[in-house]
Amino acid sequence: MSSKNAAEWGWSHKHLIGASYAMAGLVALAAMMLYTSPIQAHAVDASSPLGSLALDGLVANTELCDLDYWIEGTDLCTHGPDTTPPPLDIVGSGALAGPQVTASSVICEGDGVSGKRVQMMYVRSEDAPDRYDEYVESFRKLAIELDLIFDASAHATGGHRHVRYVTDDDCQAVILNVVVPASANDSFRGAILAIRELGYNDPDRKYLMLTDANVYCGIATVISDTRPTPDNRNNHQAGYARVDNGCWRHSVAAHELVHLFGGVQTNAPNTSGGWHCVDEWDLMCYSDSPFYPSMEYICPVTSQWLLDCNHDDYYHTNPPAGSYLATNWNVANSAFLIDRDEVHNLPPEVEISIPISVTGLMAPATITVTAQASDSDGVVTKVEFYQDTTLLKTVTDNPFVFVWKNVVSGTYTITAKAYDDAGASTISAPVMLVVVEAPTEPLDDMEEGAPRQFSIVHLPFVVRLKAD
Ligand SMILES: [Zn+2]
Repeated sequence: MSSKNAAEWGWSHKHLIGASYAMAGLVALAAMMLYTSPIQAHAVDASSPLGSLALDGLVANTELCDLDYWIEGTDLCTHGPDTTPPPLDIVGSGALAGPQVTASSVICEGDGVSGKRVQMMYVRSEDAPDRYDEYVESFRKLAIELDLIFDASAHATGGHRHVRYVTDDDCQAVILNVVVPASANDSFRGAILAIRELGYNDPDRKYLMLTDANVYCGIATVISDTRPTPDNRNNHQAGYARVDNGCWRHSVAAHELVHLFGGVQTNAPNTSGGWHCVDEWDLMCYSDSPFYPSMEYICPVTSQWLLDCNHDDYYHTNPPAGSYLATNWNVANSAFLIDRDEVHNLPPEVEISIPISVTGLMAPATITVTAQASDSDGVVTKVEFYQDTTLLKTVTDNPFVFVWKNVVSGTYTITAKAYDDAGASTISAPVMLVVVEAPTEPLDDMEEGAPRQFSIVHLPFVVRLKAD
């Protein structure tokens, strides 16, 4: 997709996932960038070892698709496979960073189904293992992260934009679990034909396939139509994007979604000539085929997570009269975006502390577990205390303290799960406890007349009595 620095698309810093929820939009995106180190990468395109496979069914067709590829047997065009930004790897495992927080929700509208929407789907071939359950939560989180890119980029021009997803009753992006024939995922064309066969060909949908295969990083259909009006074809045709498991990242998905929404038209002031731009840093800019233009570095490196450096090529929520974006297609006007000033609910933060005396914990132990829970944009409504997956106690009042009594010997893993007033939740880091058996020399068994030994060995009894 882009010859950018190494950490741009990747999640090599997993802890920053959590940070993206602790801060809003731009701030979070900028903060992530502090951890990157610029490494220029070589473009990977159709000449890569995967190229011949990746281009299967794609026909360079100047009549129907200008300089782009025609997807044979369809009415669709694509600029071809996007390059793979390091450190991502087409043949990588595809493991998304594990969630440090529970994702709250996307911005939802209406019944979640009607009107123009982005439909996310996990797509696997019938001979591949079903990893839907393993990844669905991460995909929902990816939907939120992806939306942050659109909204933070809108903030840069004084507006607000959110991706209008197909959503469920909980305001979560719906992730369909789609199975296609064995060889369908071998090519972009094959995947499109297969899901169209299943009925996914609604002009009110842009389909974002999270494909469990290793053929592409990302690839999307594009529609050449520069007209600025709502009747632009980018508002009225089904679009298909595919992100394969080595590139299951919000930045890659956002790049492909911009293509589905109509960016970057090839008459834009800073066009690359191949549906990207040359004025870095920008999520959509890179030196692409067929012209491989030289790049200009105009915007700060922190903006490589954002759309449209200088807001003059494809994304501006209020373009100046007479400017290119006021007179040409502007992705910020996509009918698949919601123009609403609404921020994502941020989940609460929680950690637990358990004071333990120097003598440790002797059975039967009394253990006081305190959860420090807070919510930056609301209030914490309750904290649940767990031993492994067993709910021990729910506390609704701050301070969130649970006194666990008569704990027998054993090893325990304790967590606290905090909920905020919008229903988002966060699970604390676990604390492991070891409660040991009381001494094997009970007082009752001591011989009559023997001196009582109030030595260290009896301390546990003292501790127990104090604790009770
Ligand atoms: Zn692209």
